[in-house]
This record gives sequence, structure tokens and C-alpha cells, in this order.
Amino acid sequence: MDVVGYIEGQREAFLAELKEWLAIPSISGDPAHAGDVRRSAEWLAAHLRRTGFPTVEVWETGGLPAVFAEWPAADPGAPAALVYGHHDVQPVDPREAWETDPFEPVERGDRLVGRGSSDDKGQVFFHTLGLRAGMAAAGADAPPVTLKLLVEGEEESGSIHFAELLRERRDRLACDVVVISDTTMWAADVPSMCTGMRGLTEAELTVRGPDTDLHSGSFGGAVPNPLHALAGMIAALHDEHGRVTLPGFYDDVVELTDEERALFAKLPFDEDAWLRTAGNSRAAAGEAGFTTLERVWARPTAEVNGMWGGHTGPGGKTIVPREAHAKVSFRLVAGQDPVRVQEQFRAWAAAHTPPGVEVEVTIPGGGVRACASPIGSPAVRAARAAMEKAFGREVLFTREGGSGPEADLAEILGAPLVFLAVGLNDDRIHAPNEKVEIPLLLKGAEAVAHLWDELATALR
Ligand SMILES: [Zn+2]
Repeated sequence: MDVVGYIEGQREAFLAELKEWLAIPSISGDPAHAGDVRRSAEWLAAHLRRTGFPTVEVWETGGLPAVFAEWPAADPGAPAALVYGHHDVQPVDPREAWETDPFEPVERGDRLVGRGSSDDKGQVFFHTLGLRAGMAAAGADAPPVTLKLLVEGEEESGSIHFAELLRERRDRLACDVVVISDTTMWAADVPSMCTGMRGLTEAELTVRGPDTDLHSGSFGGAVPNPLHALAGMIAALHDEHGRVTLPGFYDDVVELTDEERALFAKLPFDEDAWLRTAGNSRAAAGEAGFTTLERVWARPTAEVNGMWGGHTGPGGKTIVPREAHAKVSFRLVAGQDPVRVQEQFRAWAAAHTPPGVEVEVTIPGGGVRACASPIGSPAVRAARAAMEKAFGREVLFTREGGSGPEADLAEILGAPLVFLAVGLNDDRIHAPNEKVEIPLLLKGAEAVAHLWDELATALR
């Protein structure tokens, strides 16, 4: 039995089982659905036992449960791989915008519609089909790597207990590579792999002037105005080339290689269409010398998220305000340490404080580190080879501008990340009428059927 034949033969059973799982409304953000998230974990655990995993456990956290499974390779010297995904889903409102019940999944032609079909139950589910297909094709009764699965139940509500779970269970989760199936491809006919996600750190600036709001007729023009001071500081956050002015900000940035830039450039990117998706933005703008995709995927940024102060109510109020505020955030890329950027921001704010006002910088938490998988690394090359076998064409690379729990996986487990996923940007994840392309789910299974052989060889 070859891989494709096996997967085709299992298509109906695969979809029937997936629909059963999708029918469980495992909305982690809504406490009323906590029991459903647990039911979803139990359902997955039972499915993994049926698949043949000798070890399957539901892991409790401080919140909602995760599922862990392990299937040792026959060869004790084989590398270990950990698959990460999540079994919780986003809320469904506005419910009236759904054409069908979000938790009564239906097939529409080649599409499976339902909450979680793409994000992320569908993408977790192709792993077990792919694993069985690979083993059937090889006539094996164990995978070529020691395979571990960790499927969390709180991803859609911020993975609040995930880092703690990784630290507690680090020994059981030890692995040579983490495979993440929770991202997207460029397009159905342009298979691609994500190779990184940006990190994040945030700060709030408070500028203080006089003890109280002042009459602008009596005092205006003769004392510093905190809003003017703040506006000047914010304007100084970028230079005329769109570069962030924090001293040392770019020092640790891992630059794109020529090969990465060339591969990004191969993606069929329509800037006008992209601008429409960017809220009908009127022009692309940003750091000079980089394309739009490079800017959102591989360049660090500073963004002002909000500014306020003084009189903002109806009518006029002629004052010199006592305070001014701004929230700023920085998207970070591989190599940058969020805590170091926070220090750079404090130093920058001190150096840019105009005379006569006081500036306070408040930083909420340690930030999120970026993650990146070098495209030349053995793990990425192996996964790309597996994807290319499944899709029969060149697989390109993308990155993602935002971030999730991936950086914790890389950092706490100390293993490289590989992103293997078949979702599409138009799957309407987090939105009404979420769907997944069934042929792509099956391609995902096909890629997985080749993946463990490729990784076993590459990481040995
Ligand atoms: Zn997801």
C-alpha cells in the first residue's frame, strides 16, 4: 500500500472522525465551555489510543487540559520529534453571520466548514492519518522517530499556562525538533512553510509637566506643554529612513540571507491587493531598503498604539495639560532580546526627554521573543523535502508577523522549530464560516507520511 492510496482509502473515515471532534465546542475563552474543552481533550486522547500510541495522557494545567501522546521509535537511537497543536477554538460570534451551525461541520464540495476545521483541529488531525499512512507504506509497526504530540487547550486564550506546563514536563517533552502545525501556506497552488514569527515588547510613556492643568492664557507659551513634549518624542522614534532610533536596536538582528530574500521574492505578491486587506491603506510605507513582505516578516518595528492627554471632550478647553500618555510596542525579530530592547527604550526615553518635563516608562512584563528557523537547517530542509514530495512542486518560505506560544517551545525545550501546515489565509480562522480545504488536509497527511523518514535521516 503506498501513501497516496492509503490516504485516499481513509478519506471518508478521516472526515467522519474529524467532524465528530469539531462538533465539540471547545471554546477556551468562555468559562461556560470549560467542560467542552475537557471533552475535546478526552476525545482526542481516545482517538490517539485508537491510532496506536502506546502512551496517551491528559495533562492538567492551572487552566484547561492539554493532551500528550508518545510512540517510541523501534530504533532507540532514532531522534525524537514533538508535534505541537491546539484543540481549543475561538468563540463563534457573531453567530448570525454563520451560514451553518459552527459546531455541526458540513462538507461543501471540497471544503469542510466548521469552527476549528482549519485552526487547529483539522491540522492536528492530519498528523495521525499521515503517521498511519507512512507506517502502512513502510510495513512498520512503529514510527521512524520517537514521536510525541502535545496538543494544548488554551492557545486561543493566550496559552496562559503553557510555559509553566513546558517547564514542569520538560523531561517528558525532550526532543530534537518541534513540528508546529498551526500556521498557513501562501496559497493552495503555492505551497510554503512558515520559518519564523516576530516577537513583541510593549511600553507606556507618561510625560508630566505642571502639577495641575493650567490656563493657557495665563501660562501658555511660557511653560513646557507635556503633549508637545510627547509628540516630539514620538516623532523622534523613527528617522527619515523609517528606521527605529533606539541606540543598538538593530545590533542583534539576524539579517535575512540573500537566499531567503530571493525565495520571498518568488512568492506571487500583489501589493495593491495586500493594501486592500490592510484596511484599504493608501500606500505601503516603512523601513527603506526592504519590501513589504520583508518589513512585516523579518524587520523589527516601533509602533505607537495610542496617545492621549489634555482635553478630549466636546467643545474647547484652553489648557496646558499636566500630563500626556502614549502606548508603544515593538515587533522584534530573531536575535533580539525583548528585555534588552526594554533597556534600550528606557535609555532612549531618558535621552529624548525635553527640559522641564518628567518622563516615566512603564513596561508590562518581559515580552515575547521572536522565533526563526534557518532555512538551511537540517530540520527545515527535511520538512521541505517532505512537503515537496506531497505537493510535487517547489515549496517556498514565508514568515508570520505575529506570535504565539512558539517562542516558548523553542526556548524551554531547546529544540529547533519546523512549521508544517496547510491552512490558508482565506480559511476565515477566528471568523464566521471557518473552513478548510479537504484536499489540503490530505496533502498535509501525505507530507507527514514522508516527514518522519526525512527527519529520522536528517537528524541522526
Ligand atoms: Zn491556531
